[in-house]
Amino acid sequence: MRLASAHDAPDTGHEADFRRLATAVAKYWVCKRGPHHAYESLECLGGNGYTELFPMARRLREAPVNAVWEGSGNVIALDVLRALAKQPAAAEAFLAEMSTTLGTDERYDAQFRRMHALLEAASSDPGSAAGLARQLIEALALTLQAQVLLTHAPAPVATAFLAGRLDPTTRGMEYGTLPAEVDLGALVDRA
Ligand SMILES: Cc1cc2nc3c(=O)[nH]c(=O)nc-3n(C[C@H](O)[C@H](O)[C@H](O)COP(=O)(O)OP(=O)(O)OC[C@H]3O[C@@H](n4cnc5c(N)ncnc54)[C@H](O)[C@@H]3O)c2cc1C
Repeated sequence: MRLASAHDAPDTGHEADFRRLATAVAKYWVCKRGPHHAYESLECLGGNGYTELFPMARRLREAPVNAVWEGSGNVIALDVLRALAKQPAAAEAFLAEMSTTLGTDERYDAQFRRMHALLEAASSDPGSAAGLARQLIEALALTLQAQVLLTHAPAPVATAFLAGRLDPTTRGMEYGTLPAEVDLGALVDRA
């Protein structure tokens, strides 16, 4: 919704610069995360989820096509590098927005520093930037998600994201690996 609102704004200024980079980042991340999310959702429904009588099997099968017809991972990664090279204001707008939540949580601050270092490395050496591109986009996506949640979401939701996705001491590779500090009751009540 944050990105959608940026697309409603005029074609110049902060919103236009922000959406130039954030659109590619969101597209990459949604396409990459989608199939795994569909797989986990299918598993929640057990055998019913797997059969063709339920819609989940089709959702899982169709999920990878987003990254084929909306631009593959590599092609979006190259688009992000193109934005950095041709429109420096896009990175500046992105950083300015991400800076607004600095100081609210040390896990976010550490993520911001990681993202910033990757951004500087990719911008200062375009020759080797392609090798860093996927790492960079992932860092941009996670920072953007955390920033939006810290700004707009109820505290238990933002905390769950910071603990489960950003903090290297508590995050897991899979769904359902949230640490004990997360208020699961609040998350379930919200759903
Ligand atoms: C169901 C479906 C419907 C479609 N409908 C339409 C349509 O209506 N109109 C239309 O125009 N197209 C349509 N397409 C085509 C779609 O746009 C192309 O599939 C898409 O552009 C990818 O091209 P490609 O399949 O030739 O793969 P390729 O471009 O050959 O990509 C294959 C792999 O190579 C990688 N790669 C490609 N270039 C680079 C690069 N420069 N650097 C690094 N890696 C690279 C990609 O990341 C990818 O992993 C459709 C596709 C599908 C699956």
